[in-house]
Amino acid sequence: TSTEDWVRSDVYHNSFLVPHDPILNAALKNSIVNGLPEIAVSTSQGKFLQLQARTIQAKRILEVGTLGGYSTIWLGRALPVDGELITLEINDKHAKVAEENLFNAGLSFKCKIIIGPGHDSMVKLPSNEKFDLIFIDADKPSNLKYFTEAKRLVRKGGIIIVDNVVRFGRVADPEQSDPNIEGVRLLLNGLKGDKDVDATTIATVGEKGYDGFIYAIRN
Ligand code: SAM
Repeated sequence: TSTEDWVRSDVYHNSFLVPHDPILNAALKNSIVNGLPEIAVSTSQGKFLQLQARTIQAKRILEVGTLGGYSTIWLGRALPVDGELITLEINDKHAKVAEENLFNAGLSFKCKIIIGPGHDSMVKLPSNEKFDLIFIDADKPSNLKYFTEAKRLVRKGGIIIVDNVVRFGRVADPEQSDPNIEGVRLLLNGLKGDKDVDATTIATVGEKGYDGFIYAIRN
């Protein structure tokens, strides 16, 4: 089955389950026009993140890796009016486009972008203001560093999701060794026997091909 088949499959399912959304489409278009890479989560993944946030009635969300704010909009919309989302981005241009997109989505008042290296920003966040959900989707070599900070910042019973951990199955292929793959392996090694969380990997297939995410609950 080729990627086109999986694109068709996502489009088909989305046509029943995800209404046409001019604001999200405008965010993607604005990102492309500004030359951002097309590496946002897919529509169905974005909606899944939103459903997760709603399931746990998240009031505080942290995202590492904003890009143009596409996943940020999905997550931000799950929050109540007095909720807060903090998203961390190293790239000024990405942050600027995300700011425009969040403004256009009417979410600026509850979604705040912190510009700088994600880990530095995380370290500065206080331990007494816990998050309900943390979505890690930045540079993959730093996955374990982000996860370690995320454990400090997430509440007991809160969720940590790490994207792109399957990578067409290459993470499990000993002949592959690019830094993104090594970053996932480092995280998996860190998770082995880690009593602070309970986690599983869910492999996915869709318009972005074969990939998957780690889903962890803080004990
Ligand atoms: N979550 C976004 C979405 O689905 O719409 C996609 C994020 S994209 C895969 C990864 C982002 O992480 C890029 O915008 C990149 O500039 C940012 N990034 C890379 N290294 C980073 C770092 N050290 N700290 C913070 N952000 C970083």
